[in-house]
Amino acid sequence: MINFEYTRVSSVKAAIDVLAKNPTSGFIAGGTNLVDLMKKGVTAPTRLIDINGLPLKDVKETPAGLNIGALAINSDVSENEIVKKNYPLLALALKAGASPQLRNAATVGGNIMQRTRCTYFYDTAMPCNKRQPGSGCGALQGYNRMHAIFGTSDKCIAVHPSDMCVALTALNATVNVSGPKGERKILFMDFHRLPGDDASKDNTLAKGELITGIAIPKNPFIKNIYYLKIRDRASYAFALVSVAAALELNGSTVKYARLAMGGVAHKPWRLTEAEKFLAGKAATKENFSKAAELAMKGAKGYGHNNFKLKMAPAAIVEALMKAMG
Ligand SMILES: Cc1cc2nc3c(=O)[nH]c(=O)nc-3n(C[C@H](O)[C@H](O)[C@H](O)COP(=O)(O)OP(=O)(O)OC[C@H]3O[C@@H](n4cnc5c(N)ncnc54)[C@H](O)[C@@H]3O)c2cc1C
Ligand code: SF4
Repeated sequence: MINFEYTRVSSVKAAIDVLAKNPTSGFIAGGTNLVDLMKKGVTAPTRLIDINGLPLKDVKETPAGLNIGALAINSDVSENEIVKKNYPLLALALKAGASPQLRNAATVGGNIMQRTRCTYFYDTAMPCNKRQPGSGCGALQGYNRMHAIFGTSDKCIAVHPSDMCVALTALNATVNVSGPKGERKILFMDFHRLPGDDASKDNTLAKGELITGIAIPKNPFIKNIYYLKIRDRASYAFALVSVAAALELNGSTVKYARLAMGGVAHKPWRLTEAEKFLAGKAATKENFSKAAELAMKGAKGYGHNNFKLKMAPAAIVEALMKAMG
């Protein structure tokens, strides 16, 4: 047991101030990821700053879109009537994640910040550049069935495990953050990063910053949407490959498409080339297959995960067909 201190805060300012004064602290929300990481010795914050008392739980629609507080619970968001009616892609993705018990505890901010599920990252006896920079990557030559096929580096081939984040990427959401230097907004697509030379950094959140919420711009993606998650079992398993697909149709022609994939990269992977290709095209299986081909440009397998090179394009086509109804 590694001792740690515990502070409960009730304002955003207090949360930021406590972290500034105790830089080796960590925020705790639902604790569904952080507590596991602490038990396994992957991380050891000297103080937990409990942010569950912050007034950041609301889900509110405005003329500009939807605002969700960072402490909104995953199951509350997925069951929210406005979310189900006007942002159904988000509701579907949230429901595909984890188990009902976990979704009842997990928060939106914690979901965005959850760490990779790479087994080498969780096993402190193994090399892992993300956990211990410079120690090597156990997965590169090891068992890498769950790992990335896009945006990898020789330092890390891990994937970001969230389902919710895949939908938020497709929906052009923004992450609202607050820190010692004030407030700022980060486009969801730019929030998570690729490993590059520094696998230890999962995202672009600066030291001392707190996620306060997310904003989703109003969008037409209500009817023709689908979140496809392919996993080893029907529940309680992370995605091998997932696809968030949203279409705006003009008759049988695609006006706009939004596509993002999970389980394939260190960040939710937006398929911009495929989206551009589909705009103005007939919504046919043939065009969806061409879009999937474009989306797979640059994909690379590492052995055990080579099956994703076939699974991913098939999943894109299937998600688009399902989005068509
Ligand atoms: C068995 C299991 C299966 C799972 N399956 C899935 C799945 O299929 N799909 C999926 O998407 N997820 C899955 N999850 C992950 C789950 O969704 C996350 O654990 C959860 O969303 C984390 O939220 P939390 O509030 O519990 O975060 P915590 O565990 O409290 O925190 C996680 C991290 O986020 C940081 N943090 C929390 N809130 C903030 C904030 N507001 N600002 C800045 N930093 C913050 C914490 O400091 C910590 O580093 C699974 C988890 C488990 C244990
Ligand atoms: S893939 Fe990334 S997280 Fe996994 S062992 Fe390699 S460096 Fe660590």
